[in-house]
Amino acid sequence: MLLTITTTHRPATDPGYLLHKNPAQAQAFELPFGKAHVFYPEATGDRCTAALLIEIDPIGLVRGPRGGSGEGRQLDQYVNDRPYVASSFLSVAIARAFGTAMSGRSKERQELAQQEIPLEAQIAVLPCRGGEGFLRRLFDPLGYEVGATGHPLDECIPEWGDSRYFTVRLRGRKRIADLLTHLYVLIPVLDDDKHYFVGDAEVEKLLRHGGGWLAGHPERDAIAHRYLKHRRSLVREALSRLLDEDVAEPDDAARAREKEEAELEAVIRLNDRRIQAVLDVLKKHGAGRVVDLGCGEGRLLRALMKEKQITEVVGLDVSVRSLEIAAERLDLERLPETKRRRVTLLHGSLMYRDKRLAGFDAATVVEVIEHLDTPRLAAFERVLFEFARPRLVVLTTPNVEYNARLAGLPAGRFRHRDHRFEWTRREFQDWTATIAARCGYGVEIAQPWSVRQALARDPRIRPRDRGAGALRTA
Ligand code: SAH
Repeated sequence: MLLTITTTHRPATDPGYLLHKNPAQAQAFELPFGKAHVFYPEATGDRCTAALLIEIDPIGLVRGPRGGSGEGRQLDQYVNDRPYVASSFLSVAIARAFGTAMSGRSKERQELAQQEIPLEAQIAVLPCRGGEGFLRRLFDPLGYEVGATGHPLDECIPEWGDSRYFTVRLRGRKRIADLLTHLYVLIPVLDDDKHYFVGDAEVEKLLRHGGGWLAGHPERDAIAHRYLKHRRSLVREALSRLLDEDVAEPDDAARAREKEEAELEAVIRLNDRRIQAVLDVLKKHGAGRVVDLGCGEGRLLRALMKEKQITEVVGLDVSVRSLEIAAERLDLERLPETKRRRVTLLHGSLMYRDKRLAGFDAATVVEVIEHLDTPRLAAFERVLFEFARPRLVVLTTPNVEYNARLAGLPAGRFRHRDHRFEWTRREFQDWTATIAARCGYGVEIAQPWSVRQALARDPRIRPRDRGAGALRTA
C-alpha cells in the first residue's frame, strides 16, 4: 500500500518541515495492523516526493483482537486485497504519520502550512466502488485534476474485464492539510469497506475533517453514507449537524430526553463506583494479568488499561457486537503498539471450557451471572472455578432485596429484562460458600453497609441512587 505526495514548491526541504519528517531520514513506525514507513524517494532542487508505505500483517489482522471467533473464519479473511490496496488502514496511517500536518500546523513553517502549493498525490492501488465516474465526482469538485489508470482483473484473461482498482493521481494547488484531509476521508469512501466498527466517534471525525468542504460537496450524502458504513442514524445525525438544520425539539420530547439523560448519568456514576470497587480489590491482591469475563462494551477494560499494575488485559464476551463496540471504545485501532499488546478481545462463551482463560492472576465477572439461565450456571462454575482457575475471582451481581427501593421498578420485576434471576444477599452468600468449599477458594463479601455509607457521604448521589448502589454485592 503506497501513497506518494510530490511538490515542486521550493526550496525542496520545505515539504519535510510541513510533514514533520526529515527527507534525509527514512522512518518506520508500528501500527496496530502492521508497519508504516515514511521516506523520500526524491528530494532534488525541483521536486520533492514523500512516500508513505504500509506493510499490513494479514495474519495478525485475523488473529488480532478483531479476528473474531474460530468458527467464523473463512479463507477470505486470509486471502484478500487488504494488504495491497488503499483503504481505511491508509487513513489511520496518514493520521498517525502526518497528524500535525493534517491539522494545519507546522512548527517551523506555519506560514507555508497555510499556503496553497502545487501538490500531487499518487495512490498506487485504490479500489473505487462506483468506478472512475465516482472517483471523479469526489475529487473534481474539490479542484483536483484527476488522473486514473484502470487495472484489468487479470491481465492474462482479458475477458474477465476491468477490476475496481485504479492507480490514481490527484494534482492541484492545495494546502497540505487539505490534501491530507481529503485523502483521509475519501479513500475509505471509495473503498467502502472500513476495517473497524463505526460509532458516534466517527461522526465527530467526519464533521471535524469534513468541516469547510463537505457541506457544499455535491456527493455529500454518498460520502456520509459510505464513511459511516451506511449506519442510517449516524448518517442522519452527521448530515443534520453538517447542514446545521437541527430542528428544535418539542418541549415534551426535550424534557423526556433530559430526564433520560439524568437517569443515565446516575447509572453511569454507579457503574463507575462498581468499577472502582473491582479495581480496588484487584490492586489489593496485586493482580497483574486479568481476564474480564462478559466484558460487554469494555467499561472495565478501559479502566484496567489505565492501571500501571495491570500488565495484561483480556476481555471475553459472547456478543460480537459488544466486542466491536469495546474495540472502538478502547480505540484499539489507534493505540500505540506497546499499549495495544496489553489488551486482547476474545469471542467466546462462559458455558464452555476454554484454554485461553487459563493462567490468569484474576478474573472479573461484573454483572454477568444474572444473565445466565440457572441450569447453565453450573457449567459456568466449572469453566471458571475448575478449569480456568484464576487465583482471584471478583464477581458482582445485583441484590434483589433493594429493588423495592428503586423508584419506578414495579414489585417483583427484575432490573433488566434479560436478567434470569436476582439474588438476595443470603442466596449470594450461599452460592459463593458452596463453590468455595467445592473448588478450594476463600470468600470475602464486600460489606454492603460500608458501600452504602460511602455513597451516602457523596453529595452528588441522590437518595434514589443510594439504594441502587448500596447493595450490589461486590
Ligand atoms: N461486564 C460488563 C457487561 C455486563 S452485561 C459491564 O459491567 O458493563 C452482561 C454481559 O455478559 C453481556 O455483554 C453479555 O453479552 C455477556 N454474556 C452473557 N452470557 C454470556 C456467556 N454465556 N458467555 C460470555 N458472555 C456472556
